Amino acid sequence: NSANIGVVGLAVMGSNLARNLASREGNTVAVYNRSRAKTDELVTEHPEAGFVPAFSYEEFAASLQKPRTAVIMVKAGRATDAVIESLVEVFEPGDIIVDGGNALFTDTIRREKAVRETGINFVGMGVSGGEEGALRGPSIMPGGSDESWVTLGPILTSIAAVAEGEPCVTHVGHNGAGHFVKMVHNGIEYADMQLIAEAYDLIRRGTGKTPAQIADVFAEWNRGELESYLIEITAEVLRQVDADTQKPLVDVILDQAGAKGTGAWTVQTALSLGVPVSGIAEATFARSLSSHAEQREVSRGLPGPADDAQSNWTVEDPEAFIEKIRLALYASKIVAYSQGFDEIRAGAAEYDWKIDLGAVSKIWRGGCIIRAQFLNRIAEAYDTETELPVLLTAPYFVEALQRAQAAWREVVATSARVGIPAPAFSSSLAYYDGLRADRLPAALIQGQRDFFGAHTYKRIDKDGTFHTLWSGDRSEIEAEDTH
Ligand code: NDP
Repeated sequence: NSANIGVVGLAVMGSNLARNLASREGNTVAVYNRSRAKTDELVTEHPEAGFVPAFSYEEFAASLQKPRTAVIMVKAGRATDAVIESLVEVFEPGDIIVDGGNALFTDTIRREKAVRETGINFVGMGVSGGEEGALRGPSIMPGGSDESWVTLGPILTSIAAVAEGEPCVTHVGHNGAGHFVKMVHNGIEYADMQLIAEAYDLIRRGTGKTPAQIADVFAEWNRGELESYLIEITAEVLRQVDADTQKPLVDVILDQAGAKGTGAWTVQTALSLGVPVSGIAEATFARSLSSHAEQREVSRGLPGPADDAQSNWTVEDPEAFIEKIRLALYASKIVAYSQGFDEIRAGAAEYDWKIDLGAVSKIWRGGCIIRAQFLNRIAEAYDTETELPVLLTAPYFVEALQRAQAAWREVVATSARVGIPAPAFSSSLAYYDGLRADRLPAALIQGQRDFFGAHTYKRIDKDGTFHTLWSGDRSEIEAEDTH
């Protein structure tokens, strides 16, 4: 038993994480994979890592110091359950099983409960940053018990990305908290990507600039308040020329966006928690719309507006238009993050996790896909007010929204007028206006609900719950509170 940490599952994520672990002072890494070939390949190709290979779960357990600590990096779902069952058989109370795959947080809650009964610790851990992040330093979102954090904390701290001198890892909260936060991270990522895509589309159709010219716009934006990994790689993608056709790569890629399901999880969870993550939802739906090829085909001839962007629309002042889009993007991004953090707050309340929202924003500053300058502003907002109920009401964001809102409204109005879909831009603006409204037409909805279902309503001028006798004399009576 010479290894202090083990990795099970040596596909791209697991092998890179194992190499990252092995490269840190003091770590000896045991490795195991269901099919032997991957283990052999990893050990042969990376002699410098000093891996301790195991070819059975028994051998794997025997190679680990106590408390045994193993990170599982296999396909999420049944494969994870199968590996956990095997590890539980060979591990002992006090040992730690970490699932670093993309598990649904409710699965993690279930697994943690089951594994805890054996005395073994189970930690659901969100890992972001793809293969590159796993190798060079990911953003790590571990859940699990305080006891397991004692052993795991220093190891994870040693391999995490570093942003502004701080490691991008924090003990997020118990059981499923880490995977929950990772899920919301991915939802925000969907929103961020969709917003960038809408910005690109509007610029291209409104100014006629080429993808390479738009790459310059994004590169320029990346030097300002929008500085982020996603803006940076957008410029790279837009600049890429296809070797076969010599066309911009973006013009030969099929315009149907794929998804692995974490965006949908974020939205489904938000729906059950009653949290309006409309930007994330629109981004997720926009991907589904794009991939419905047949529906798009039969809809192609639908009438558009008179100055249809598909035929004859251009803006008069391209530079001014681009600046307005930048502002609209920034404002919508503030909304997306505010909604994401709202979901984390609601999740924490529902599942009884103590999640430090400021710490979450800090661990996303490095290693992960949504890393951005902007996260420092979020951290500051939560530093000033830990229990901030709506992130976008922090003074810095209010000022930014104030600065952006005229442009934001104009961009949304323009997109509607010329028929360019901008679902994330427009839903973010609608959310913002909904939040700040003095009165919402929800009052009318309450009236309708009371009319057809006697669902009752509350009044603004007195306590109690009321019902109008709609099918009687339409007088109002005090009613039982049925919510
Ligand atoms: P895959 O998701 O493709 O999973 C392949 C690995 O799972 C192989 O090691 C495979 O073993 C193992 N496996 C599959 N079924 C079983 C089983 N029944 N029992 C034991 N092992 C099994 O690998 P990735 O490296 O892409 O991802 C690993 C995890 O990390 C996933 O949960 C993924 O969602 C998550 N993740 C991935 C990211 C990415 O960018 N790819 C980013 C963050 C997280 P075998 O070789 O024997 O087939």
